[in-house]
Parts: sequence; structure tokens; C-alpha cells
Amino acid sequence: MSVKTRAAVAFGLNEPMQIVELDLADPAPGQVMLRMLASGLCHSDLHAMDGKLAQRFPFVPGHEGVGEIIALGQGVTDFAIGEHVIPYLIPECGKCTFCTSGRTNLCVEYRARRNSARSPFSLDGETIAAFMELGTFAEKTVVWADCLVRIPKNAPADHTCCIACGVTTGLGSALIRAKVSPGSSVAVFGAGGVGLSTIEGARLAGAARIIAIDTNPAKEVIARQSGATDFIDPRDIHNIVQHIMEMTGLGVDYAFDCVGHPALARQTLEMTNAAWGVAMCVGVVAEGVEVSVLPTNLYAGRTWTGSLMGGAKRADVRRFVDMYLAGDYSLDHVVSHRLTLDEINRAIEMMKTGESVRSVIVYEG
Ligand code: ZN
Ligand code: ZN
Repeated sequence: MSVKTRAAVAFGLNEPMQIVELDLADPAPGQVMLRMLASGLCHSDLHAMDGKLAQRFPFVPGHEGVGEIIALGQGVTDFAIGEHVIPYLIPECGKCTFCTSGRTNLCVEYRARRNSARSPFSLDGETIAAFMELGTFAEKTVVWADCLVRIPKNAPADHTCCIACGVTTGLGSALIRAKVSPGSSVAVFGAGGVGLSTIEGARLAGAARIIAIDTNPAKEVIARQSGATDFIDPRDIHNIVQHIMEMTGLGVDYAFDCVGHPALARQTLEMTNAAWGVAMCVGVVAEGVEVSVLPTNLYAGRTWTGSLMGGAKRADVRRFVDMYLAGDYSLDHVVSHRLTLDEINRAIEMMKTGESVRSVIVYEG
């Protein structure tokens, strides 16, 4: 017996979403039904809608949510009705080589759920896909229990939802993937949700110098609130790599491209220390786009690597929630707008123009 739920549906490429009442299937074995409390809007949602990421249409976007469990599928014993959870993008099936290796966060189920044909949503009998099998821009959704992160009920959902993707990607890139060392120097391209959290992670790691680079001068204040010691608008600079070299002597120890652009990915590499610099691709580069490098920039020992969800597992997401609740970092400057589900297209527009840092959809109780 299915229930009804209101949801934001993207019916076609680059079309505004429509708020529609959908049928929602009961949770299958291993699944739970969630009543969403809040969901942040992330660039990946936009990229699925504008074709930068492969995505089947129509679909319910949203993957940065906090919800309350309202029904349990067969065999779900780790969770109880009434608990608050983050449905995390990267599940833990517990069986695949990645899960059993203990070294990575790349459970094969993550790939299986990416652009999946399975979905609990339907409209007049036609399946409506759920982004990443999450689809958090719906008042209710059904997700797999193996991706759930239990969080305290007193955690403010309109802030902690951002930890489901953007904040975890940023903090994890600095703390888990790069392992930024105390006293080091760091450069970050892009002071959006992920970039700010990367800056925050570098601050938490004890970096001495954190250089934020963004073409929007209005981002300087929040970049500094997040921990940046310097802010550069690259349009003011003739050669950003040379400029960073002049600022730091031998280049930064770590550089992150949180924008997701091939030219910036190359510049992050070139602005790091030639011997031990670590350059990291964090932002999503459009599928099929290549990045080039001069091998001479690798000989001395630079590391060029990437970060998917900051290398974070479910336990790391919970750790980042606890750090937030303990006051280790703030999300007040990250959550710039709170909107209702009906206002979701405004959130998309503000993301495109850069007016918002993070827009959060807050669901009525
Ligand atoms: Zn995301
Ligand atoms: Zn697995």
C-alpha cells in the first residue's frame, strides 16, 4: 500500500522543477521510509538537471537531507521509528571488496545507485527516478538502511543537512584525504559550500596560511570567517600560479580545486610545492572533460589526486555532526537561505547567480 508525497520533480533538461504529488512505495526489505525535515541544495543536483552529470529523467533531485524514520522495511534492525538520520550518498553494503578492505569509502553500491532505474516514486504508474536513490526533495522518501547515519534528535536539521554532502566533502578533503598538517599552507579555489568547508577543515587541521581564491569578492568575508587568512580575486591577478609562488616562496603544501574546472585543476597542481605538494580535484568536472599536465610538474614528487565525498564513511559523517554540535565549527554563514519546497526553483536561481552560499529546504512539521 503506497502513500502519497509531495515532491520536486525535474521533468526535462534545464527545465524548472515542478511540485507534484507522487505515489511512494512502501519500504522494501532493507529500506526505510523517511519524513524529511530539511534538505540542502547542492551543485550536483544542478549538474544532474543541466546535463553535466548523466541522469535519467524525470527525477526527484536532492541528496543532502535529514529525515525522521517513519516506517521500517523487513530485516531493518539497526534503526527504529522516530530516529533522526542522514541518508548518506555512500552506503556500506558490508560485503564488497571496498567495504571489507576498510581503506576506502567506495562501496560498489554507490555506483549501482548512481543514476539507478530503481525508485520508490511514481506518477500515474510511471517511475520517477530518485537522485542517487535518495530523492530528498520530497516530503517523504524511501532509502536503503545501509546508508543511514544516526544523528541526535536535538541536532538542528536545517544546518546538519549540509553535512550530508557539501560540508563532509570539504572537511573530509582537508582532514581525511589530504590530511593537512599543522603549520602548513593551503590554497582553495572556490568559496562556495564545499570550498568554505575545505577552508574550515584546513583551519581545524591547524594550517598556518589558508588562501581562498574566488571571483566573487562578496565571498571574502565568509571565507575569512571559515578560516581563510588571505583572499584573492583571480581577475585582479595576471598569473595566479606565479602569484601564489611569490606569496609562499615554494608554493603551497596543499591546493584544492573546489570549483571543478580543468584549468583550475591544473593550476592547483602547479601552485603546490614541487617536492611534496598535494593537489586535489574536489569539484565536479563535467563528464568526458579531460585535464592535462606537464610531466615536468610531477618529477620532483607532487601528488595529484582527488576526493569523492572527502573520503568520508558513515562514521566520519557522524563525527562531523558531533564536531558541529560541540562548536568546533559553525554553519551559520554556510546556510544563507531557508526556503519551502514550493520555493525550490528560487534556490536554483540563487545558486546559479551566486547569491546564496547554501539554500536549505525546510519541510513543514
Ligand atoms: Zn552534493
Ligand atoms: Zn560495499
